[in-house]
Amino acid sequence: MLLINCPYCEEERPELEFRHAGEAHIARPSGMAEISGEAFETFFFIRENPKGLVWERWRHVHGCARFFNAVRDTVTDKFVTTYKAGEPRYAVQAGPRSAEPAKVAAKTPRKRTVKNRESQK
Ligand SMILES: [Zn+2]
Repeated sequence: MLLINCPYCEEERPELEFRHAGEAHIARPSGMAEISGEAFETFFFIRENPKGLVWERWRHVHGCARFFNAVRDTVTDKFVTTYKAGEPRYAVQAGPRSAEPAKVAAKTPRKRTVKNRESQK
């Protein structure tokens, strides 16, 4: 079972106690009533959804019930870290757990496809 560290309870708890709450650090635009429909769509629905590291909001619904942020790798489903809501976006150091390996892996098949087409000529 996946264990998630709640930064408020300061302990790892089973994932069944938590609920995903979307992408973290989404800034709500000021003057919401005056923004265009396209700007509202972008704020409300459009998310990066990258392969690799993502910054997410989570809620410890069956514990302290508080929201917190987490950095999770979508490839391995491992949590890199969790931190309290309101704290600045966690900066990930370059290394094996950074987004770089996933980006490189995502680009590798495209390069192979190009090479295969060139070798067929
Ligand atoms: Zn908690």
